[in-house]
Amino acid sequence: MTRPLLGAMRTHACGSLRAGDAGTEVRLAGWVARRRDHGGVAFLDLRDASGVVQVVVRPDEAPAAAAIRTEDCVRVAGTVRARPAGNENPELPTGEVEVAADAVEVLAPSETPPFPLEGRTDADETLRLQYRYLDLRRPATRRGLELRAAANATLRRVLGDRGFLEVETPYLTKSTPEGARDFLVTTHLAPGQFYALPQSPQLFKQLLMVAGVERYYQIVRCFRDEALRADRQPEFTQLDLELSFLDEEDVYALGEELMAAVWQDVLGADLEIPFTRLTHAEAMRRFGTDKPDLRYGMELVDLAQVFEGGGVRVFASALEAGGAVLALRVEGGAELTRKQLDALTEQARARGAKGLAWVAVEALDLRSPLDKFFSDAERDGLRQATGAQPGDLLLLAADRTPVAQTVLGDLRVRLAAERGLVPEGQWAFCWVTEFPMFEWDEQAGRWDPAHHPFTAPAPKWADTFMEAPEEATARAYDLVLNGYELGSGSIRIHRADVQRRVFDALGISPKEAEDRFGFFLRGLAYGAPPHGGFAFGLDRLYMLLAGTPSIRDVITFPKTQSGADPLTGAPTPIPADQLAEVRLRPLDPPAKPGDRG
Ligand code: ASP
Repeated sequence: MTRPLLGAMRTHACGSLRAGDAGTEVRLAGWVARRRDHGGVAFLDLRDASGVVQVVVRPDEAPAAAAIRTEDCVRVAGTVRARPAGNENPELPTGEVEVAADAVEVLAPSETPPFPLEGRTDADETLRLQYRYLDLRRPATRRGLELRAAANATLRRVLGDRGFLEVETPYLTKSTPEGARDFLVTTHLAPGQFYALPQSPQLFKQLLMVAGVERYYQIVRCFRDEALRADRQPEFTQLDLELSFLDEEDVYALGEELMAAVWQDVLGADLEIPFTRLTHAEAMRRFGTDKPDLRYGMELVDLAQVFEGGGVRVFASALEAGGAVLALRVEGGAELTRKQLDALTEQARARGAKGLAWVAVEALDLRSPLDKFFSDAERDGLRQATGAQPGDLLLLAADRTPVAQTVLGDLRVRLAAERGLVPEGQWAFCWVTEFPMFEWDEQAGRWDPAHHPFTAPAPKWADTFMEAPEEATARAYDLVLNGYELGSGSIRIHRADVQRRVFDALGISPKEAEDRFGFFLRGLAYGAPPHGGFAFGLDRLYMLLAGTPSIRDVITFPKTQSGADPLTGAPTPIPADQLAEVRLRPLDPPAKPGDRG
């Protein structure tokens, strides 16, 4: 049994009172969630962190009650009694009782809140974030905090049991690349020089392995100054971990144990382990994404055999150029209107496709702008390869293979959602393994690390990754849940010579490597153990656990999608004299928000 610390001002927590407490004299404190007046009697719903209880105040017994308003902070002395028959509230854990007040005191009055705190709110989110301390008084918002704390406690317990050491690493540090822009921090001690806030503790955790820590973890804030998306924040929390003397299987087993424990403790749900595993190539081939939602089928179908050398020019030429012709089958989709099909084509174009072909399957014929180009063998082949039935729709993409895959992969997700094909209440975890080592950066004209530059090549590519960077795979893996990436990790390079070769492949000169990572390379030179690890994005994990649509619901003081904090007004301009201390001068004319400078 947990025993909350109530403090000297009260004897009980509001939400703890039950029928068995009838007759007990209590002192309570909290906020007035609601006030109703009935025949000279005031009914107050008194809320504290534990829940709500009804307090009945007769004006003659407590004259102060007349002035009490919603959200005032008050304390109450009184006696618990059973509610009169018929007045019980089965919705409320305390619904069988009420507290007859002898005295009520306003500890601090409240202004009228800018939005109602009871029940559901449709108040504007920016307003709620501006008054987040009031928003957090709402039980639904508070539950996000409670879920977070409970899940963090479970993670700590499991990792502690497994001999992991919780270690803190610095926030004021040097750039650790994870593919985003750094947040920079000035110091008056070294004007003109900057710390970077960590994009992750990557290099420190690897150096902890060199230090012989063997099993490290940290629930840690990471900072990435990048364009925000709906489920991203500039600062976010990871469960970061690293182990020595391991392989991929150890990480998978640990990740599964952690997830199973959290699901058990927070939701009382049993997860099926081990989780499904897919190589990156297989995930792309079957689902057109590296974060496949496995709650439903709709796998992509390869039509190369059907259309090779055939009469449909766009298909044949995509195949001749080494690309792909792929199909997505939408059950019952033949009913989609022209307008809906146009919207899908638009999405495909936005994703880089030249176009999107569609074929509606009817009992005898196919209906499609392309039908006149199909041979009978192609018509049959199309039905057979896709298993399409009358009433179905086929969406076809012919392009470079990754483009065709991602275009249909995106449409798969959209159509499954729009057509109600996503089953509720299922947890489809999977490990996506063997990621590519590099990805080509069109703009910069160079290879970038697909994960980060400290990831080890797959054993069969250990000596040859530079010869075929487009094919080389890495010992990198992601954990995916219901189409969301929950985290990433890899087995690391633990030899300085291999690390230097990878920097070389990434176009990082020895001088640049020394300037940026010299401290780390020196560490690798002192008998670094084979090691690897993982980082879970906890905000997203908790969003999914809480069943809410936004990560802001499970972050205590989140920022808006434009990175602003409506509560404090950050980011704000800094006065010129404070800038002068660190030898900075504002641009003239001043940059506008969003300017890259
Ligand atoms: N540091 C990586 C990240 O933040 C995770 C890892 O490789 O452990 O994505």
